[in-house]
Amino acid sequence: MGEEKIPALDRELTGRVALVTGASRGIGSAIAFTLAGQGATVLVNYNGSRQRALEVVAQIEAAGGTARAIGCDVSDFAACGRMVEEIIADYGHVDILVNNAGVTRDNLVARMSEEDYDCVLNTNLKGAFHTIRHLTRYFLRQKKGKIVNISSVSGVIGNAGQANYAASKAGLIGLTKSVAKELAGRNICVNAVAPGFIETEMTLGMPEKTREAAVASIPMGRMGSPREVGELVAFLAGDRSDYITGQVICVDGGLT
Ligand code: NAP
Repeated sequence: MGEEKIPALDRELTGRVALVTGASRGIGSAIAFTLAGQGATVLVNYNGSRQRALEVVAQIEAAGGTARAIGCDVSDFAACGRMVEEIIADYGHVDILVNNAGVTRDNLVARMSEEDYDCVLNTNLKGAFHTIRHLTRYFLRQKKGKIVNISSVSGVIGNAGQANYAASKAGLIGLTKSVAKELAGRNICVNAVAPGFIETEMTLGMPEKTREAAVASIPMGRMGSPREVGELVAFLAGDRSDYITGQVICVDGGLT
C-alpha cells in the first residue's frame, strides 16, 4: 500500500483528445463543453446540423478551449472509419469516445414501421458499434482509453411508445458490458450513462400532457439539465474513474 497522491482535479483532461458524437446540440454539446472545460481537445461530431456544430466549437474556443467540428453519419460504418482515420491523422491519438448521437421515432409497437425501427437501431446502437469498432485498435495500442455510451432510462426500465428506442438503449447496455469485459485487461474503461428526462429538443418535442406526467413521475420533481449529464461523463472520461468499468449509471432525479 503506497501513499496516495492527491489528484489534480482542475483541467484533468489536458492533452486528451475526445470524440463526442452528436455534439451539435443538446446533451452532446453539453458533454463537449464539459470535456473542453477540463482541458480536452474535443471533436464535435454532427450529422445534419453543421452550423450548430460550428457554433459549439466557437463557444469552446471563446472560452479558451480547443475543438473542431467533424461531420459524419454514425449509422454509416465506412464513414465512421473515415472519421476515425482523419482524427488519428491529425491528432495522433484519441483518448475518449462518447457515443451520444441518438434519435427517436416514437410509436406504439402495433403501428411502428420497419423503417422507424431500423432508423433508431442503426443510429443509436449500430452507430456506437461503428465508432467503437474503428477506434478500439488505437485504444488497444495505447493500453488506455475511456468509452462512454449514452443509453437511457428507457433502456433500463422500458417505455411504452418507445419499443425501438428502448431496444437500442438496452442494446447499448449489453454492448457496454461486453466490450468492457473484452478491454478491461488493457486498461480501457467502458461505461454507460442512462439519463432520465433531460431538457433538450428531444424532450421539448413531447406533448404537454406527456411532459407533465413525466415530471410528476420524477422524485426530484424536475427534468435534468444537459450539463448534469456532462458532469458525469467528464468524471467517467477522466482518471478519477479508472477502476470503474462495465457500469450503467442513471442520471434521472431518482426516476428509476
Ligand atoms: P437531441 O437534442 O435531439 O440531439 C441529438 C444529437 O444527435 C444531435 O447532435 C444530432 O446531430 C445527433 N445525431 C442524430 N443522428 C445522428 C447521426 N446519424 N450521426 C451523427 N449524429 C447524429 O438529443 P438529446 O436529447 O441531446 O440526446 C442526446 C443523447 O442522449 C441521445 O442518445 C439520446 O437518446 C440520449 N438521451 C436523451 C434523453 C433526454 O431526455 N433528452 C434521455 C435519455 C437519453 P445533427 O443535428 O447534427 O444531426
